[in-house]
Amino acid sequence: MKKLILSLLASLSVISFPSGAQWYQHTFDTMGTRAHVEFFLDEKHQSTKRADLIIAAIIAEMNRLDEAMSPYKETSELSLLNRQAGLRAVAVSEELFSLLVTAEKISQMSAGAFDITYASIGYQYDYRKKIRPHKGFIAQALPAINYKSIKLNVKDNTVKFDNTDTKIDLGGIAKGYAIESCIKILQSEGIKHALMSAGGDTILLGDRNGRDWLVGIKHPRSEQKNAVHIPLKDEAISTSGDYERYFIEDGTRYHHIINPKTGDSARKVVSVSVIGKDATVVDALSTTAFVKGLKEGMALINSLPEYEAIIIDNQQRLHFSQGLQQ
Ligand code: ADP
Ligand code: MG
Repeated sequence: MKKLILSLLASLSVISFPSGAQWYQHTFDTMGTRAHVEFFLDEKHQSTKRADLIIAAIIAEMNRLDEAMSPYKETSELSLLNRQAGLRAVAVSEELFSLLVTAEKISQMSAGAFDITYASIGYQYDYRKKIRPHKGFIAQALPAINYKSIKLNVKDNTVKFDNTDTKIDLGGIAKGYAIESCIKILQSEGIKHALMSAGGDTILLGDRNGRDWLVGIKHPRSEQKNAVHIPLKDEAISTSGDYERYFIEDGTRYHHIINPKTGDSARKVVSVSVIGKDATVVDALSTTAFVKGLKEGMALINSLPEYEAIIIDNQQRLHFSQGLQQ
C-alpha cells in the first residue's frame, strides 16, 4: 500500500504562495477534545474572509454534533436515549439512527469487541478523578453490556433498549463521523486539499503541496515523540491509545477503552491505528482492534481489504497489517 517513512513531520505553519494561493488553519476545542482543520485555497478563491467563514462552518458543525451526541450534555439526543430507551421506543434523527446502524454492524463484525453499550459500566469511570467501579458493581451491571439489546427499527427510526440498565456512548465512533461531515463541508466549498482532525481521528483530503501528508503516530509512552510517520493522502487514520485518558492504581493502568466482556480496561496492546477511506468505520475499527489485541485485532484488519493497521504491543513493538508490509 504505502511506503513507511521514519522522518520528521513537515511543519504545519501557514504557507503563502507567490500566486496568492494559501493554506489556512485553525485549532479549537470541541467534543471533549482538540480539533484541527487546515485547507488550501487557490489564487482564484483565496481570501481571509472566505477562510474565516469556512472555519466558522467547521466549528459550528463539530459543535452541532457534540450537542447531539455528547453523553455529558443532558439535552443531547444521546442523553435522551439513555434516559428513555429502556422504557419505550424513542424516535431519533436519521443521522443518529444511521450511526447506530454502523455501530451495530461493527459490533456484529467484531463479535462484540466494539459495543457502544460498554457505557452501562463505562460511565462509572472518571479518569481525572481516578475513580473506577468496584467489582460488585461490574458483576451486577455486566449483563447490561450487550449490543444485541439495542433494538433499531428502520421503519420509524426508533430505538429501544431491551435492558433497562443499558446505556450507550458513541465516543468510539462519533469523532470519525464528525470529521467526515466536516470534510464534506470543505468539499462543498470546492476545497481539494485539507486535513481535518479531532483527537486521534484524522482525514487527509488530497495531498499537501504535491506530496503525501506525513502523519505521526504518537509514541505510547513518550509524549513528545512519535513512534512512526505514515505518508497518506485521501485516507482517514484513527489511533486508539491507552495513554489518552487513564490513571494508574497499584501498577495497573485504567483507561478509556473497555473490554465489553469484563467491564475493565482492555490491556492486550497499547496503541492501534487504522487506515482506510471511511473515517467512521476507521474510528470504530481502531477501538475494536484495541479490544481484540494483536492476534485477533490484526486478523480482523487483514480480513478487510480496504483497511490497514499499525499495532503497538505491550513491549512497544510495531506490527503492520499485510497491506503495509512490502
Ligand atoms: P479516542 O476517543 O481517544 O479517539 P477511541 O477512538 O479508541 O479513542 O475511542 C475510545 C472511546 O470509545 C472511549 O472514550 C469510549 O467512549 C468508547 N469505548 C470504549 N470502549 C469501547 C468499546 N469496547 N466499544 C465501543 N466504544 C468504546
Ligand atoms: Mg476509535
